[in-house]
Amino acid sequence: TKKNGRNGYSFFQPSMNTLAQNQLQLINDLWLAIAKNELRLFYQPKYGAMDGQILGFEALIRWQHPQRGLLMPDVFLPVAEKTGLIVSLGNWVINEACRQLRVWHLEEDPRWSVAVNLSTVQFEQAGLVETITRALAEHQIPAELLTLEVTETTAMREPEESIRILTELAALGIKTSIDDFGTGYSSLLYLKRLPASELKIDRAFVSELRPQSGDATIITAIVALAQTLNLKVVAEGVETQEQQAFLTRLGCDSLQGYLLGRPVPAGQVAQLRRSVVTG
Ligand code: C2E
Ligand code: CA
Ligand code: CA
Ligand code: CA
Repeated sequence: TKKNGRNGYSFFQPSMNTLAQNQLQLINDLWLAIAKNELRLFYQPKYGAMDGQILGFEALIRWQHPQRGLLMPDVFLPVAEKTGLIVSLGNWVINEACRQLRVWHLEEDPRWSVAVNLSTVQFEQAGLVETITRALAEHQIPAELLTLEVTETTAMREPEESIRILTELAALGIKTSIDDFGTGYSSLLYLKRLPASELKIDRAFVSELRPQSGDATIITAIVALAQTLNLKVVAEGVETQEQQAFLTRLGCDSLQGYLLGRPVPAGQVAQLRRSVVTG
């Protein structure tokens, strides 16, 4: 209880900083956000590197906070992870992404896919495969149009467990992507056994690609590794035409980034260019 005034008690000690108070407020608000329909998905296009066609979209969560405006995931996802709220939030994302995918499937382009990010807690949660199977069935979506993105760090936490989960997902026809690749510590032995569909090169390596530096060693190595393991390669964070041309030349299969398309609400997807000029 919080009571102000001369003789009032305060739940918060004076020493407790406003940052912590804000965090508590945020947790309270987040509990209600799903019920109050304040969560949104934005969609960022993913383009084929060679032909420049839209292949699909990555769903990225936003929170339309009544007082604070549109909040980015880095503001509330860490809190959601810590409190376990991420599971219901994640289930909302899966269902909403599948609902939208169905609409596009019927009304826009039946080849488009949608990628959903999974947090560590979600990935390791017992009911994950069931939740996804149910969402696909409910919205009548071909499994191969859904991609699940897990970070390299998440996938390598409990490698044997990850292999088991990814094998189950692959058996259902669901695609999986190893996100932020290159920033974690992959055991190549495990990587070889992970039945994933693609590697997604972390933005950090892409932003290193500057016209003068020309340092493409790491990207070249990741592309070679992916080809050996029979995985597709996606590069994220493409911001310049030089990067686009370079990544295409190095053999990346698909590209994402502000240069090609920013994340937008589903309603604005129709205004995105259906194809971009390829390098
Ligand atoms: P991520 O999965 O690595 O997503 C890519 C992030 O880079 C997104 O930030 C995207 O908006 C941003 N981005 C895309 N292109 C560019 C570019 O050209 N330049 C730059 N500087 N940035 C670019 P966002 O939307 O803020 O998401 C941040 C992270 O939050 C995501 O990183 C992902 O880890 C997490 N996230 C987002 N949505 C969800 C979700 O629904 N569930 C879970 N579990 N995590 C999510
Ligand atoms: Ca991602
Ligand atoms: Ca990423
Ligand atoms: Ca990231």
